[in-house]
Amino acid sequence: DFTTSYFTMNEQDVVDYVQSKLDFFAHNAELECREIGDGNLNYVFRVVEPKSGRSIIIKQAGPVARISDSFKVSPDRNRIESELLKLHDELAPGFVPIFYSYDPIMNCCVMEDLSDHEIMRTALLSYKKFPLFAEHISTFLANTLLLTSDVVMGHKEKKELVKKFINPELCEITEDLVYTEPFYDCEQNDVFEGTKEFIRDHIWNDKQLGLETAKLKFEFMTNTQSLLHGDLHTGSIFIKENSTKIIDPEFAFYGPAGYDVGNVVANLIFAYVNASFTIVDESKREEYLGYLEQTIEDVIRLFQEKFLQLWDEKVAEKTAMVPGFKETYVNSIMNDAAAVTGLELCRRIIGIAHVKDITSISNSNDRVQAEKICLTVGKTFILERSQIKTGEDFVKVLLESV
Ligand code: ADP
Ligand code: MG
Ligand code: MG
Ligand code: MG
Repeated sequence: DFTTSYFTMNEQDVVDYVQSKLDFFAHNAELECREIGDGNLNYVFRVVEPKSGRSIIIKQAGPVARISDSFKVSPDRNRIESELLKLHDELAPGFVPIFYSYDPIMNCCVMEDLSDHEIMRTALLSYKKFPLFAEHISTFLANTLLLTSDVVMGHKEKKELVKKFINPELCEITEDLVYTEPFYDCEQNDVFEGTKEFIRDHIWNDKQLGLETAKLKFEFMTNTQSLLHGDLHTGSIFIKENSTKIIDPEFAFYGPAGYDVGNVVANLIFAYVNASFTIVDESKREEYLGYLEQTIEDVIRLFQEKFLQLWDEKVAEKTAMVPGFKETYVNSIMNDAAAVTGLELCRRIIGIAHVKDITSISNSNDRVQAEKICLTVGKTFILERSQIKTGEDFVKVLLESV
């Protein structure tokens, strides 16, 4: 019975759920189900009707993390994810999976199966190129970040959204894992042995870095600028040649707009560092690195262009139209994006959650070198953030440290 109380479903439960609660498949259709999740917190089920080839995805939030029963996170995050998928489809049509339904008892939602796409992190690790990605992600970012902000929305209406998307438990995960633990010798960190001394000398013992990350943490917690996706790394992007889809917005809340932009850039940099150590053929390597440099530059440049253009179309708030305000506002988003690029680069090396781009570098000397590059680039992004404004600036920071 799915109508009285919550339980975590197995594959057979999901088939029963789909047959009794949804009208997506014909009555009595023969269905197959497999759990395909790879994350920490949630269960993702793919249900297929072999006869027709039609399929659907059910994502259920578990009450505890899959790695440890003592790590509890409220399954209400599935409500936030469901609301965001709907909202993003209105704000940036075509860039999210089609949303079908949300079930507040089972804490699950039903969405379009994107199995014809590929997770972008995986695709970049096999050196694939996506010429439309910068175009797509910059539209998604400009639309979702500007249209949910006070410069476009009625201020009361916007505060209602702030309330609706208050997300204290997932914010706490970010506050701890991104903004706190990586910057001191915290027990929960997961440091690669060969990199430890470098981290101690250049991260944990750097007082200026400690001060700057403290400022950034309180900025993250107190600046209700835009409704963020909140977890926009390349594992939350499904991609193929002509299509980009953003999934997994369960971390959504009102925070500094630069947070999402910085996460995208940092994860392109992880792919860049991976490629620089794993592509053996020099001309192929140079070509792929050039592609990623251009992509980073384009993401930032197109984001700014689209954000400013959308501003001219949508902003009617008198104060926001004061000459010079628009430019100041965009600049400060770029500075925040630079800072978050740096935080993400550091925390994925030092903290508990690593990225495959780096952990898959099998030669341990290479991995240590790769990690030092990420940390050096990351630190520069944090410390120099007020000077970083354009796509070229972002690429320059990367090229100066590799
Ligand atoms: P988590 O919050 O646990 O990280 P995700 O939403 O990122 O969950 O999904 C985990 C994995 O499940 C993805 O990496 C992808 O392989 C698969 N998945 C998620 N959503 C879909 C979808 N709509 N279509 C196909 N596969 C999906
Ligand atoms: Mg995942
Ligand atoms: Mg998630
Ligand atoms: Mg995920």
